[in-house]
Amino acid sequence: MVSELIRLSWEDFNEPLESDGTEMENFLNDLDNYPHAFVLGSIMDKQIQADRAWAIPYKVYKELGNFDIDFLSNVPLEKYKELFNKGSYHRFNDKCATEFYEGVHKIKEDYGGDASKIWSGKPTSKTIVNRFLEFKGVGPKIATMATNILIREYKIKVSDFEAIDVSVDSQVEKVMPRLGLVSQNPTKEEIIIKAREMNPEYPGIIDRTLWKVGREYCHNTNPDCDNCPLKNECDYYLKPQKGETEDKFNKLIKLGEMHDKGLLSDEEFASLKQELLAEDTTTKTND
Ligand code: SF4
Repeated sequence: MVSELIRLSWEDFNEPLESDGTEMENFLNDLDNYPHAFVLGSIMDKQIQADRAWAIPYKVYKELGNFDIDFLSNVPLEKYKELFNKGSYHRFNDKCATEFYEGVHKIKEDYGGDASKIWSGKPTSKTIVNRFLEFKGVGPKIATMATNILIREYKIKVSDFEAIDVSVDSQVEKVMPRLGLVSQNPTKEEIIIKAREMNPEYPGIIDRTLWKVGREYCHNTNPDCDNCPLKNECDYYLKPQKGETEDKFNKLIKLGEMHDKGLLSDEEFASLKQELLAEDTTTKTND
């Protein structure tokens, strides 16, 4: 049932880092010289659009003209608050300016100013997640997301992937129920547990694929199912929806084609077909 999702996720995992080549992107991707920009960007990534959050370290850099950790650690908290409020960096400027300031000092004090020590030396994924969790303003979602990005995008070496849970965002919450992997109104815990069950060695591998499918195909209304790479294992696409007007006959043909191609077992085909026909009967009875 989930084989295509996992296969696509590994395909996405093996893709090289995407970059639009702008000065900001180059700055954020420069883990050799500015690993703390990645950590501070992660800390900011909450309750606003991700692009806006990740731009904050770059904006600070441009305002101050320097992003060396020694320099940053000499900037007073009030100055950070002033920058955040003046540039409206975040929805919660004072709070996030404080977390930025404290993040800088934690990197300086706990890691000797070198944030790459958080992930260097091929640690376990759990070690990296726990190190992120020690930063003020970082919860499990940010910690696992940051670890996942380091591994997937920056190819940081780790000894395992087990502690990297799926980061539950609005795309994941939309696509997983439609695929039929979780209930229609799932809790975050239900989604996390399902992802662990699907791929215990790396639960969070599905993050990026679900995000891409959610953005490009699985729109809130009128999802572009015909072009979606997950349509052949999607309940929403394969099963009749309550109140939908789509022609049941076409759906039956589609199910038959899938059965012929071996994408549905005899039992799955029979069960789905029965559901379609039962819905017709119910409708007629109600009429
Ligand atoms: S087939 Fe349609 S409903 Fe299912 S995941 Fe793709 S776009 Fe969403």
